[in-house]
Amino acid sequence: FHGQHITVAGLGVSGISAARALAGLGARITVVDGGDSQALRERAAALTAEGMTVRLGDATTLPEGTNLVVTSPGWKPDSPLFAAAAEAGVDVVGDVEIAWRLRGEGAAPWLAVTGTNGKTTTVQMLASILEAAGLRTAAVGNIGTPIVDVVLSQEPYDVLAVELSSYQLHWAPSVRAHSAAVLNLAPDHLDWHGSMSAYAADKGRIYEGNKVACVYNTADPATEHLVREADVEEGCRAIGFTLGAPGPSELGVVDGILVDRAFVADRYTSAQELAEVTDIAPTAGPAAPHNIANALAAAALARAFGVEPAAVRDGLRAFRPDAHRIAHVADVGGVAYVDDSKATNTHAAQASLAAYEKVVWIAGGLAKGAAFDELVAASAKRLRGVVLLGADRALIREALARHAPDVPVVDLDRTDTGAMAAAVREAARLAEPGDTVLMAPACASMDMFTNYGERGDAFAGAVRDLAAERGAGA
Ligand code: ADP
Repeated sequence: FHGQHITVAGLGVSGISAARALAGLGARITVVDGGDSQALRERAAALTAEGMTVRLGDATTLPEGTNLVVTSPGWKPDSPLFAAAAEAGVDVVGDVEIAWRLRGEGAAPWLAVTGTNGKTTTVQMLASILEAAGLRTAAVGNIGTPIVDVVLSQEPYDVLAVELSSYQLHWAPSVRAHSAAVLNLAPDHLDWHGSMSAYAADKGRIYEGNKVACVYNTADPATEHLVREADVEEGCRAIGFTLGAPGPSELGVVDGILVDRAFVADRYTSAQELAEVTDIAPTAGPAAPHNIANALAAAALARAFGVEPAAVRDGLRAFRPDAHRIAHVADVGGVAYVDDSKATNTHAAQASLAAYEKVVWIAGGLAKGAAFDELVAASAKRLRGVVLLGADRALIREALARHAPDVPVVDLDRTDTGAMAAAVREAARLAEPGDTVLMAPACASMDMFTNYGERGDAFAGAVRDLAAERGAGA
């Protein structure tokens, strides 16, 4: 990259990290961003002081002399800047591609994870298992630690646990993982990708050139299909995971025990016990089915890398889930309040609703082009009531009218930040002792909040207020 004129699209976390890394390697950097807010100007000033050029308020034209465009996740493939780049014959790549072009496997082999839901959880489980095996590792990529930073650091790694979003895969054509998993595939981000087939094709890129194992979900045939389509290295195996008893070349569950029939001496006659289901983050309460699936996928990748069974068990025991992922906030009046703000699409919300018997469901936000019929039809019998808020709540209300006409629905008709506290109050009114109030909105949060974390905090704050009031009244 030395001496190249690189245009970085987007003045966000990943854009800044890529710009600094490339400037450090001797590239001439121009960062462009269509916004022009005070916050952006402050960031721009910092980069300008470091010798970079920043152009705010124009995200469409390609700066003169650009040799390469490095994009940020939020930018859609049909952005005018990329059309301008294509016209000029200039490549567009993402930060993951940069990381790979810089060091490739030289930094460490990549165990990569994608999927519509469960990526972060699985990558954290995987990193925990690899650490338990005594390997030097880091959880990187879409999970928050920019992979370019890790690849350029002088720290020695044995293996990297890499979370890749569909956006990152779209812009990372050369990456070749040691082994990779696609956890599941459901409609999400279709407004970005344009179609389900384009979304699936981007996810499927993760298997291209895999060396040892392509891990797929036997309950989700679309993931297996992606393995079949992929061009992999000779000897690379397709490994399934299932919540049932595993067949040969699969990992699964038998009598509450995670069992490996893939990485064993003879997969037709032998099976290796890895851990008990209760070993999965034991302090967080009973594992929801989708987290058992995530644990199996993590175990499959670790086993593909040669990790021993005892380390799988120890790693799963040590794993702690991140905030806002099915996090129990409090019990108030015999009702459990659960924050699953990270359920930003219908597939995730459906998985968490399935973990409870009777639920008052708080939902709504930005639908990102999703349909709610399947989710509502599958969950109807569990719903004690529903409280709706956010920009696209009408879509959910209509699906409820079609598939759960008897379930009481409170439509708050609000998109202000304070609506979450009102939603918690309405939910408390609908709930009966023994129920769960589950905030799993099936939507993105940006209509009302900065991100899902802020939305989860608003919910938790309102629940604590409720608990304090009820406590005072008792
Ligand atoms: P991602 O990184 O893919 O967004 P997370 O691990 O952060 O995934 O989990 C996001 C949400 O998705 C969780 O809060 C939970 O509701 C749901 N979820 C997690 N794992 C799965 C899975 N394997 N299948 C379906 N839903 C899941």
